[in-house]
Amino acid sequence: MTLAKYRAKRNFRKSPEPKGGKGGRGLIFVVQKHYASHLHYDVRLQHKGALVSWAVPKGPPRTAGIKRLAIHVEDHPLDYARFEGVIPKGNYGAGKVEIWDKGTYLSSDTASKAESERRFAEGMKKGHIAVVLQGKKLKGQYDLIRLKRGPKDNAWLLIKRASKKS
Ligand code: MN
Repeated sequence: MTLAKYRAKRNFRKSPEPKGGKGGRGLIFVVQKHYASHLHYDVRLQHKGALVSWAVPKGPPRTAGIKRLAIHVEDHPLDYARFEGVIPKGNYGAGKVEIWDKGTYLSSDTASKAESERRFAEGMKKGHIAVVLQGKKLKGQYDLIRLKRGPKDNAWLLIKRASKKS
């Protein structure tokens, strides 16, 4: 899919219509800091029209080699990537949610969104996802690796990989 035709017909300095992302170089990711009963960070990656999500109690690592437990939780709608606010007391996940980082990502070693989606789907099945994040705080190669021992197989590790060059 390309937006070349859409863009060619419009002058975005004169029309307020959206240009459609920064050249659409990647899929979106967001990390939300969630002050729920236990503070955690929700890492969400766009995949097939939703945000595949993990709750990371200690937050995503910013140093290579550090492993953080990441609990795979239910998919969230794409809109959730923009959500900040307070979930009222008595509701599921009550507490403040703030966007801690956001940006784009692709599966490792591909510049194509379609190929990225394909590899991501495969990675979910085999329990190993490798991505390159381009956020403000999080940049570079990350691995998500499923642990077999989790009570519902929902326990993964989020690891920042030593960067080759990305
Ligand atoms: Mn949460």
